[in-house]
Amino acid sequence: MTKYVYSFGAGNADGDASMKNLLGGKGANLAEMNKIGLPVPPGFTITTEVCTAFYELGQKYPDELAAQVEAATKKVGETVGKTFGDKENPLLVSVRSGARASMPGMMDTVLNLGLNDETVEGLANKSGNRRFAYDSYRRFIQMYSNVVLELEHHMFEDILESFKEINDYKDDTELNAEDWEEIVRKYKSAVEAEMGKPFPQDVNDQLWGAVGAVFKSWMNDRAIFYRKMHDIPQSWGTAVNVQAMVFGNMGDTSATGVAFTRNPSTGEKLFYGEYLINAQGEDVVAGIRTPKSITKVQRVTMGESGESLEESLPDVYAQLDEVYKKLENHYRDMQDIEFTAENGKLWMLQTRNGKRTAKAALKIAVDMVAEGMITKEEGVARIDAAALDQLLHPTIKASYKRDVLTKGLPASPGAAVGEVVFDADEAEQMAQAGKSVILVREETSPEDIHGMHAARAIVTSRGGMTSHAAVVARGMGRPCVSGAGEIRIDEAAEKFVVKGREIKKGEIISVDGGLGEVLFGAAELEQPELSGDFATLMAWADDVRHLKVRANAETPLDAKTARDFGAEGIGLCRTEHMFFDAERIAAVREMILSEAKSGREAALAKILPMQRKDFVDLFTIMAGLPVTIRLLDPPLHEFLPHSAEDVEAVAKATGLDGDKLLQRAKDLHEFNPMLGHRGCRLGITFPEIYEMQARAIFEAAIEVAKASGTAPIPEIMIPLVSTRKELQILKGRVIAIGEEVMAQAGMKIEYMVGTMIELPRAAVCADEIAQEAEFFSFGTNDLTQTTLGISRDDAGRFMNDYIAQGIFEKDPFVTIDQDGVGSLIKIAKEKGRSVREKIKLGICGEHGGDPASIEFCEKVGLDYVSCSPYRVPIARLAAAQAALNNAK
Ligand code: PEP
Ligand code: MG
Repeated sequence: MTKYVYSFGAGNADGDASMKNLLGGKGANLAEMNKIGLPVPPGFTITTEVCTAFYELGQKYPDELAAQVEAATKKVGETVGKTFGDKENPLLVSVRSGARASMPGMMDTVLNLGLNDETVEGLANKSGNRRFAYDSYRRFIQMYSNVVLELEHHMFEDILESFKEINDYKDDTELNAEDWEEIVRKYKSAVEAEMGKPFPQDVNDQLWGAVGAVFKSWMNDRAIFYRKMHDIPQSWGTAVNVQAMVFGNMGDTSATGVAFTRNPSTGEKLFYGEYLINAQGEDVVAGIRTPKSITKVQRVTMGESGESLEESLPDVYAQLDEVYKKLENHYRDMQDIEFTAENGKLWMLQTRNGKRTAKAALKIAVDMVAEGMITKEEGVARIDAAALDQLLHPTIKASYKRDVLTKGLPASPGAAVGEVVFDADEAEQMAQAGKSVILVREETSPEDIHGMHAARAIVTSRGGMTSHAAVVARGMGRPCVSGAGEIRIDEAAEKFVVKGREIKKGEIISVDGGLGEVLFGAAELEQPELSGDFATLMAWADDVRHLKVRANAETPLDAKTARDFGAEGIGLCRTEHMFFDAERIAAVREMILSEAKSGREAALAKILPMQRKDFVDLFTIMAGLPVTIRLLDPPLHEFLPHSAEDVEAVAKATGLDGDKLLQRAKDLHEFNPMLGHRGCRLGITFPEIYEMQARAIFEAAIEVAKASGTAPIPEIMIPLVSTRKELQILKGRVIAIGEEVMAQAGMKIEYMVGTMIELPRAAVCADEIAQEAEFFSFGTNDLTQTTLGISRDDAGRFMNDYIAQGIFEKDPFVTIDQDGVGSLIKIAKEKGRSVREKIKLGICGEHGGDPASIEFCEKVGLDYVSCSPYRVPIARLAAAQAALNNAK
């Protein structure tokens, strides 16, 4: 018989922390906490295998499940001395999802399950607290109706709001037992009116309804979107955790809260969290009531009125203090915990490694190494390389004069500027139209996730540091200000009002997520200082990595940025970017459109000094580091004049006949330019282009060598080669120019001539090509395009369908298709090295900055990766992690 249900409670557990795949993160950690003697309400976990089976069987359960759930429920009852469905002393349970990777707020939860018209009386008598019993019952009806019966929340909120209005109540706390009873009656008749049948009274029906809803929530839109964004495979499934309820809403010595063992925004070693007295867990996370700080220090720093948990319930705080320290030491990582205090007794409901900003991740890793809790290698392994991106985001310049509209909570750092938008769909549409937008909402819910993703920053008027908006924005690396309570949003009028000022949709505001400020107008932004913890961790990463990291850069600014970020050379200088410059394009067009060689040479003579200056700048900035310069690559087609004015401009500049030029442009038009007259084919048909470029490179190298005393090492790269002969011819011409320039200058410099591997033929015949090439650089953009036969410029139209239908797990233009393109890279490496043992191997396609692809490059044994300047730190870290993984 397969074991589908794992019990835990009273210090025992069937599972443990190592069983995340089967029990989900929450279930595995609930088991583990039991085992290390922490107070955890007893319960059981229905495994992720059941979720998979549920979908395979067409939303049905495996046969053995019912009996296992029944036995486990009974056991929970015995542990707490209550019985599920019993009129006198009823056991109530929570039903929660729990996937292998945490997906906060993405799936469903039901609390207080097991209440009906009879058991609620039992709960009232047993607890001696009728108000609490009916408060729990109304919460249950609302949650169950929403999650399982799929009725709208607002139906219940409207009933409660109008009841409060009629009775002149402001807060929920003013409602007494009779009031809640009345609300329960109203809720039940509303459900019956909507559903055409009464609210379910059978507790077993309730349980299976909730379990089914959790499994179904695995496939809801927001969960699917979240998985896609975080690369979580659909096949993992979720577990379901059923746990005896403990009540944070039993009165003034009861509370519920969430906390982080260190500050998740800054990483500071300070216990940090929020709580609510007399409330249930969902109140905190949902941002319905604004919670208070847990510690006194935090309360004072935040300038909050009211008491912290440390002050209001010192006894509970003392229990919590002990537990959180024990948890952090046990897991050796910052924990994100959920707890409830019931009549002064602390219960732990969850622990997991806490999500954190990149800044916090760095600080926590560096601090924990200093504390001796983890090793440097563990510190390096723990940072999510892709998340470093957050640190590379701009902040607001200190000199900028801020027009602060209001201040909220600093929920997620970074700064952004954008147009105000109030609706998630609209945010997405505007972003797709190329606008920068800032999503402003009362609070966000998981339905808004696509809009949050599209927005540059998020502002909410309600909710705390652990509200949905705050948690999700931090995970996405979006700046976020939450709980900006002075903002009044009027969605209908498409505006918000703050301190008497009116900001309409489309007006520009700025957000400082680090300070929690919302500013009027477009702030001036600047790049962050990359020192301190960042530099420390990067140095550790550099110690363990084998792969070198270079940058793809053409402009002096990009080259400088790349060096600041630690690039060890330039892996790809795309010279065509230099040709598109407004000043040069006319000369370039003149060259292309000239029918005679002499005309082309005259045009090239104009370009030569500019091109030489480009290389002087690059070599100077890179100060002796290798610089790979690729000779002209793009389809000639791209340089053709598009409009009559363009043609006229060329005619004017050259004195050539306009009609003739137009005809020539038509003749050069290509049907399939990506597979047409481009790459080395340009060099073959127009030798003078590559000769001019080679001359510019050699002359620049000599100029810099003479001026600085440090000789640059140019690596001259020929693109889109598929045969040895192409390379042989072109290399011969480059060498001839080199000899000529060096002889004239009376100086020799070191250089290399190599090729890109961008075509399957080049990969398969790499042994032939390596006879000429001194290095290979894998141009995986084109290699992916040509191997899959998918146009890199048009793939976007159907790629999402391919990923949604599981044909590709990831976009092959982002992460290397290891089986296809990857195999070609391996073949090319083997064959290349068989001819030229020490041939230098690198990658310069977009994949060079993608952590998963970098791991592949390490495994294959390339020498370096090259990526865009901003991704250099990510690549350095990913290369270190790849080396550590490979050594395992
Ligand atoms: C490539 O094809 O991977 C490459 C780096 O060249 P480009 O993107 O310029 O075609
Ligand atoms: Mg290419």
